[in-house]
Amino acid sequence: MSKTNFLEKIIDKDIKNGLPKKNLSFRFPPEPNGFLHLGHVKSIYLNYSLARKYKCPFILRFDDTNPINEETKFIKAIKKDINWLGFKWCKETYASDYFVELYKLAKKLILQGKAFVDSQTKKKIKEQRRSSYEDGIESPYRKRSIYDNLELFKKMKNGCFKEGECVLRAKIDMNSPNINLRDPIMYRIIKKKHYKTGKKWFIYPTYDWAHGQNDYLEKISHSLCTLEFQHNKPLYNWFLSKIKSYGHILPKQYEFSRLNLNYSIMSKTKMKVLIEKQIVDNWDDPRLPTISGLRRRGFTPDAICNFIKEIGISKRENNIDIYLLEFYLKKNLAKIAEQVMVVFNPLTLKIENLNETKWLRFKDRNIPFSKEIYIESKDFIENKKDKFWRLSIGQKVRLKSAFTIKAKSIIKKKNGSIKYILCKIYKDKSKYKATLHWVAKKYSLPIKINLYGKLFNIKCPEKIKNFTDYINKKSRIQVNAFAEQFLRNANSKTKYQFLRNGYFCLDNKSTNKNNSKLVFNKIISFKQKRFNI
Ligand code: ATP
Ligand code: MG
Repeated sequence: MSKTNFLEKIIDKDIKNGLPKKNLSFRFPPEPNGFLHLGHVKSIYLNYSLARKYKCPFILRFDDTNPINEETKFIKAIKKDINWLGFKWCKETYASDYFVELYKLAKKLILQGKAFVDSQTKKKIKEQRRSSYEDGIESPYRKRSIYDNLELFKKMKNGCFKEGECVLRAKIDMNSPNINLRDPIMYRIIKKKHYKTGKKWFIYPTYDWAHGQNDYLEKISHSLCTLEFQHNKPLYNWFLSKIKSYGHILPKQYEFSRLNLNYSIMSKTKMKVLIEKQIVDNWDDPRLPTISGLRRRGFTPDAICNFIKEIGISKRENNIDIYLLEFYLKKNLAKIAEQVMVVFNPLTLKIENLNETKWLRFKDRNIPFSKEIYIESKDFIENKKDKFWRLSIGQKVRLKSAFTIKAKSIIKKKNGSIKYILCKIYKDKSKYKATLHWVAKKYSLPIKINLYGKLFNIKCPEKIKNFTDYINKKSRIQVNAFAEQFLRNANSKTKYQFLRNGYFCLDNKSTNKNNSKLVFNKIISFKQKRFNI
């Protein structure tokens, strides 16, 4: 980050007040229950760039405390995405690595009389916590003896109870105006195989209990999270104040605002709904703002990182307009894309003064120009209008890297549609107002192109409960086009600029192995003002 952000100011102050630089450490803690999205990049970039700036560790910690939705495939995808973006972590850890330690710390809390086993239902517990405007109701089990609590907790761990039969709760303050402090749950019973620890555990720590203690055990100095956790901070600090036993400096939690994008959702849970309802194909659907979706769509790590850098870090909640990402995307693609001629809606031109194929130089290759060539239908007009500089009867235009051409007459089919335009070519090199792209018909390569529009037709789908009611039914359209043979060897790493149209990339998921059926994704048009994902 170029400007000093508020977190850097806090860290600088901590250093000034005596925090040794060698004690600085940052982490990115994704839960392996889905793929990473653009919002996560904000968090990764923040933690990574702070670690770079202060020359300290950046840890990738998988926050895998809930076996219900967590899977190995998500671990793989998350690592792939972070690598692709170009961020390097120095250590890979798992919240589940600390399960034994956490269990011991929980027993320590019980011994201090600061935690108890509650045998009420979760529903009952929730009711008793009530709202911050009224006092909560203490659980009748709050006064259980330390001995009983230790015994019951052990039984919970050994699988002697059914799911929902009891939980371990911290004993804090049922009248606190902060609901999080009203005897929060530390452990619940979940009898499901954990993707990493298998069937070893029947109890799993909650986020609130696990997160801060993991930060502490891992010696994280500044635990950065999004604003929705600001009310959890007193609890984060309460737990830490009770467990400090190793003499490390306690981590501190700071919050920053989430990244939200217009016309888009930025939540794994909501994306999962879209996948389950088959509104999108999968996590890597090019219409989703997931990293894998953006990659498939043709976005580059450069564009994404420059965008994230530009929006910066603050505590203000806001929706970012996607045009900024579009700006960096175009800037990057302009530098790296290969130019290709592709015709979308072909109109045939027949050249009366040419019989054999001519080979012409275009970029680094020779391309054929033969008797029949395709141009875009919209580049020809039957009844000439003022200021229409493209092709019309009697008007000369340039064909890109080829000849000057003049349209002589229109040959029509019986049904009145145009069969072809009879034309004449000239070798003159004069300048004309229009230069058209073209493809020789005989040598043209048929390709398919996915065009993408907004996935939602409302500006803030994130805020709406029934967000799936606002899907743009035309968010993906497939069209046919005709390309130069050059694209026969297209690969998914290269970005292509289709002349006078925009940027495209090979969709290697729908293109078959030998490239005999080529499918491209439109990344972005030149003209489009607002990008739609
Ligand atoms: P989601 O709501 O998409 O499920 P999450 O916060 O539950 O997101 P985690 O895997 O727990 O997902 O997130 C890992 C880290 O990324 C957390 O520190 C979280 O605060 C941060 N993060 C998640 N979404 C955003 C976002 N939109 N903007 C910035 N940071 C985010
Ligand atoms: Mg989460």
